[in-house]
Amino acid sequence: MKTRREFIKISAVAAGGIAVLKPALSWSPDFLKKDIEPLDESKAKRYPTFCEVCFWKCAGFTYLNKDGEIQKIIGNDKDPHCNGRFCPRGTGGVGMYYDNDRLKFPQKRVVDGDGTHKFVQISWEEALDTIADNMKDIADKYGPESMALLYHASSGSYFKHLMQAYGSKNIAKPSYAQCLGPREAGFVATYGMGVSSPEPTDIKNTECLVLIGNHVGENMHNGYVQEVADAIERNASIITVDPRFSTIASKSKFWLPIKPATDLALLLSWIHVLIYEELYDKKYVEQYAFGFDELKAHVKNFTPEWAYTKTDIDPKDIRDSAYEMAKASPAVIVHPGRHTTWYGDDTQRTRAIAILNALLGSFGKKGGWYFAEKKSVPHFPSPEYPHPKWTWKDITKKTYKGAGTGISNDLIKASLPENKNEHKVKGWIVVGTNLMTTIPDVETTKRAIENLDFIAVVDTMPMEITGYADILLPECTYLERYDDIRSSQHRIPNIALRMPAANPRWESKPGWWMAKEIANRLGLGDYFAYDSVEEELDWKFKQMGTSLEEMQKIGVKQFDKETDLYLADGEEHYFNTDTGKIELYSLDLEAKGYDPMPKFIEHKQPDSGFYRLIYGRAPMHTFGRTINNPNLTDLMDENKIWVNPKVAKIWGVEAEQEIWLKNQDGKISTFPIKVRITERIRHDSVYMIHGFGNTEKGLSRGYGRGASDSEMITNVKIDPIMGGTGMRENFVTFLLENPHLEENKIENKEAES
Ligand code: SF4
Repeated sequence: MKTRREFIKISAVAAGGIAVLKPALSWSPDFLKKDIEPLDESKAKRYPTFCEVCFWKCAGFTYLNKDGEIQKIIGNDKDPHCNGRFCPRGTGGVGMYYDNDRLKFPQKRVVDGDGTHKFVQISWEEALDTIADNMKDIADKYGPESMALLYHASSGSYFKHLMQAYGSKNIAKPSYAQCLGPREAGFVATYGMGVSSPEPTDIKNTECLVLIGNHVGENMHNGYVQEVADAIERNASIITVDPRFSTIASKSKFWLPIKPATDLALLLSWIHVLIYEELYDKKYVEQYAFGFDELKAHVKNFTPEWAYTKTDIDPKDIRDSAYEMAKASPAVIVHPGRHTTWYGDDTQRTRAIAILNALLGSFGKKGGWYFAEKKSVPHFPSPEYPHPKWTWKDITKKTYKGAGTGISNDLIKASLPENKNEHKVKGWIVVGTNLMTTIPDVETTKRAIENLDFIAVVDTMPMEITGYADILLPECTYLERYDDIRSSQHRIPNIALRMPAANPRWESKPGWWMAKEIANRLGLGDYFAYDSVEEELDWKFKQMGTSLEEMQKIGVKQFDKETDLYLADGEEHYFNTDTGKIELYSLDLEAKGYDPMPKFIEHKQPDSGFYRLIYGRAPMHTFGRTINNPNLTDLMDENKIWVNPKVAKIWGVEAEQEIWLKNQDGKISTFPIKVRITERIRHDSVYMIHGFGNTEKGLSRGYGRGASDSEMITNVKIDPIMGGTGMRENFVTFLLENPHLEENKIENKEAES
């Protein structure tokens, strides 16, 4: 059945809609095929940048060879995110620039007489006019609040400014509700402040690091990985809790192969041991914490023996690992993790982590958590934003009172046809995020898109989401554009510049330019009252005590820290909570109707023949965004599914055999995945790398490689406190025969006719 906004495969565009497009070239740019001469860095031109391959944003320099071609990227020594060293996938970022599958021209959706949808190439003028016209129509019909921005690229800050100038604060990043949100909410409830990124964990000085489902070393967050490697070198104790024997588990003093979904039982039991064996930091708790007696009573029965019945972890190991933490206190970190949206009770799990750190006296202490500082970036002078009649808070905050920012899945739900309340979202601008894989329950996202009046998508690459655009804008890569200033919290406040090292390829353009041009067409030019982005950046830098000229030379500037890194012994400190103390018992959560202390909830375990689906990262890939990168696919071009040998024997599957996955709701993977048989995974779980199994044919290296974990995530457990989407309550079974043979035959016949 034809739909109003049928998905258009970008590959079909070249053949049909855009006659002028050349067929996709081979992946390797000509210069990469040459024997590369070593670069003489003293003669090469270099331009400062910060990496966009993942969100750690390491700063470095892009070097050009003698022919003026981008050759390599090297870390900036002054940058605390990377300390002069890029990770392998960051150096592979050059591949994003040279990828010939990139989006090349602005395009619009047209519908043929027979109802077939296709993209046709249009001018920038027409593309930007169409977006502005649709935004005006939506503002006239429903109010500007009915436009939403969903973004995850650095240029999103210019679109954010545009949206607020236009009159909408309905803005969300999937990095909150699909990733970091629960830990932020859990720490806000405990310490009155979130964790933010990079996490202010003093790994450099720690004696004990506890990692729960945290795949450091596989998930390459550069400075973090470097500090962990140094900690291992120094013989700091690592305690890893994971159903999988991960890379970091192999370096750990304790590996606790927990039964998935029972982490909170382990955390409560650790709290029990620290309190009832009097191992907690009494002086620290007495001075800084509120609600100790309530907590003590709450965890009375959560003994290691009780926890064993939930977690499968030997009570002796629970005690011994607790003793290890206490021994290192206060130079101990129970890390809050990054991807924290697991089972729906994630804020409470992160609360337990926050409480554990407080009992160990590590927050604000050397080797525990330091107080980070960040330089604030001034706004270029512009008029005040209009006051919207309603915002994301009116959609979200009634239900999820602990939400700290817009919730992407809630804004999507506000676009569904069954949304009968007064707050409706009717148009989206999507910048640099493939919603079809980042937001679980893709069928809901598709129904929401179908009900929109308008959707514009800005991206560098064809992705599943780009196929749903009405207007598609090709953004140039981070190596071809300026972006807003990176100001990051760290031991030393610092800022970094990203500037272009090459002209944008084809007709791609920077995001800041698109936002400014749309603003001009909406009569909002006063909000972008500068002639060039260089003028805007220079003005901001000058307010911060530097200049664009200086930053173009140095790339990163550090500033003096104005506050202390750690609390001195007995120093007074005010925490931004109701009591001014670390709330072991949260008055704020209680007032909002939630449990003031974390409670263990039993989660469903897989039925016979099904296995819990766990997903993670590979060192060379960052979600779907690197899956087509020519340099990085050379290192890894598909994912495999980790299967315990006992399970493999039951199924009679062999290593490298291709299987299809079917989840608890009957959803079958589009593509098969190869089996990796390994003792490193529990028998009740399977594991795969996230981001593969792409269905967008415009990705010549990414299409159909491996299977998609996102496709299997149809059961979503929403965190009742902050609205995040718990995605680890999905179970899969195996199909050994191709379940799509019949569909494939029909498709082939249709293609032939
Ligand atoms: S960790 Fe690696 S990929 Fe991420 S920003 Fe740094 S260099 Fe880039």
